[in-house]
Amino acid sequence: MRGFNPLRWWRRRRQARLLCRSRIPLPLWQQLRRELIDHYHLSAQEHHRLRRLSSLFLQRKQIVGAGDQQVTDYQRAVIAAQACLPILELDLSDYDGWTEIILYPDAFYAPHERIDESGLVHRQQRLLDGEAWDRGPLILSWKDARPSRRHHRLGDNVVIHECAHKLDMQNGAANGIPPLHRDMDRREWTRVFSASYRRLLRQIERHRHTAIDPYAAESPAEFFAVVSEEFFEAPARLHQAEPRVYRQLRLYYRQDPLSRILRSRRWQPADGGTPRHAVLA
Ligand SMILES: [Zn+2]
Repeated sequence: MRGFNPLRWWRRRRQARLLCRSRIPLPLWQQLRRELIDHYHLSAQEHHRLRRLSSLFLQRKQIVGAGDQQVTDYQRAVIAAQACLPILELDLSDYDGWTEIILYPDAFYAPHERIDESGLVHRQQRLLDGEAWDRGPLILSWKDARPSRRHHRLGDNVVIHECAHKLDMQNGAANGIPPLHRDMDRREWTRVFSASYRRLLRQIERHRHTAIDPYAAESPAEFFAVVSEEFFEAPARLHQAEPRVYRQLRLYYRQDPLSRILRSRRWQPADGGTPRHAVLA
């Protein structure tokens, strides 16, 4: 049995007070469920927790429009719900150390330095749909973060991608290894991720089809962010292609998105209709 922890008690009490004042209103949350969250087949308890976490997230983070763009409550809630999905079984404090999210209406240009094989530095402007700065803001394109984007490419989620970078940055610069839990084995994580990363590089070199988005080959940090997106958005495909990576992510996020889909299929209507948004690829 755990003893009384005054700090935890105080934090819970403070969170409860904040929630009383600022829970995402139910009509807005129901709209999000229809347009976005039902895609993930969460249980009733998980829904409740996601709304609570998302409301607290909006208390802690400031979402501002780039330039003089106005950010609506709907946009704020959409960003919060997607950002909180990865930490549903972790803790909001995993997003500590930064407060600002900058929302662009569409993809945006950002300065980028690339060093070629001869050591020359090339400064370029890259068109991005999201960016996470170490201890700085998280930057997103609304066009790529909004719910209707999901008709574009299965496995894509720019909010989860950038939030995975933020989780990775908790223990220094992003390197593809976030702070692992005590019951996880860092050597096993490194072994599994390195093998999968090398496999992806080989597939790209040989111009083969890749189950994982080839962008993951940019670096181990990008690999972790991309497979995190796919873990939540296309879990069946990731599990089939890279079951060991899937297992490590399941241990890290303490969630099993594939089993949620399988559970939802067991509860599909008696007329044989398939659940909406089922991720089968
Ligand atoms: Zn990235």
